[in-house]
Amino acid sequence: MPDPILDTLIVGQGLAGSALAWHLVEAGQRVQVVDDGHRTSSSKVAAGLVNPLAGMRFNRRPEVFDWLAYAEGWYDAIGDRLGRRFFFPTPMLRLFRSTAQQRFLDRALTDPDNRTLLDTRQPTQADFDGLAAPFGGFLQHRTGYVDMPGLLASIREWLQSTNRLQQRESAVDTLQVHADHVVLDGTAARQVVFCEGARLQRNPRFADLPLCPEKGEILELQVPGGDSGRIVNGQYWLVPRAGGGFRFGATHEHQRIDTQTTPAGHEELTRGLRDMLPGAEDIRVENHLAGIRPGTSDRYPLIGRHPLDPRVVVFNGFGARGALSIPWYAKQLTGHLVDGGALPPEADIARFR
Ligand SMILES: Cc1cc2nc3c(=O)[nH]c(=O)nc-3n(C[C@H](O)[C@H](O)[C@H](O)COP(=O)(O)OP(=O)(O)OC[C@H]3O[C@@H](n4cnc5c(N)ncnc54)[C@H](O)[C@@H]3O)c2cc1C
Repeated sequence: MPDPILDTLIVGQGLAGSALAWHLVEAGQRVQVVDDGHRTSSSKVAAGLVNPLAGMRFNRRPEVFDWLAYAEGWYDAIGDRLGRRFFFPTPMLRLFRSTAQQRFLDRALTDPDNRTLLDTRQPTQADFDGLAAPFGGFLQHRTGYVDMPGLLASIREWLQSTNRLQQRESAVDTLQVHADHVVLDGTAARQVVFCEGARLQRNPRFADLPLCPEKGEILELQVPGGDSGRIVNGQYWLVPRAGGGFRFGATHEHQRIDTQTTPAGHEELTRGLRDMLPGAEDIRVENHLAGIRPGTSDRYPLIGRHPLDPRVVVFNGFGARGALSIPWYAKQLTGHLVDGGALPPEADIARFR
């Protein structure tokens, strides 16, 4: 076995691989990350929305307050270390999509734990200015967005400057597992963690996990006079961007899973934009992007050691909640890999055995 050997080799530098690398290095590990230049990264495409009451029914996952508190602190802490701001707490105006959703809100309001997340103030006409809101809406707190492209770029620079990044495609099917180490593409490590996003499906060690990839397309645009002090979230969302302008999205496609933008996606989004902002003029579309959400059958992540090869680990399946939940799960997996701490049962792949 070569010496000195790495502790952990990470495949993939999306938000999952980035957050895990950061936590493992902080814990004193020798780490290398292999990434192919974000060729298929969904983190690069995501709006980075942090919404503790996501979903049509505004249900709150029991873990949400842990995820949220940790994410808010972690993004600020790495921002301080890397000299750049990554998390932008921003209130959210939620637009009802039907009258039924008013009932879901009424139910959510009966849960005292939701008080810090929901504003009991009725939105005024001024809140809806310029927006089509036929069913009304409500205001949410403790929401915001992460500058995902900025975060990926800054962590990449940090990895490069500390000789921890290998830019290439990893031939994951050539992984060799030995008694006390693994070898992948000629690099030896005590363990390997796969953070490949939707490409996990092509990894022979984990191809049987219930990953449910979902394609999404978005637009990057400028809305002259647009309000960058809030997020609007209805059938589609309009989220400010750290460098100015907005991201508007997203489509949901389950059949054709690839990272190509399509004319149909563009048309759906421009129609949705016109419906949301009927009076807006001079909207300038600057970019059209597509990515694949690495979803799962039960909407919880896929984390843990391979049942036959415990040196082979997966950290994936964050679906549409990566910005909110990845930092907290990166901390839990680090505790497991470094100190043998228990994995959160809802995310442990052992639940599928
Ligand atoms: C349209 C859209 C909008 C979204 N909006 C939001 C949002 O607002 N909020 C939110 O929380 N989430 C959102 N998401 C989901 C979010 O993108 C994911 O939860 C999260 O970013 C997944 O991160 P990841 O690191 O697991 O995967 P990825 O970001 O996909 O990273 C995987 C990385 O591994 C690399 N890779 C894979 N295989 C190999 C290999 N063999 N060799 C080398 N490199 C490899 C890839 O190129 C990539 O860089 C959105 C997703 C989409 C598609």
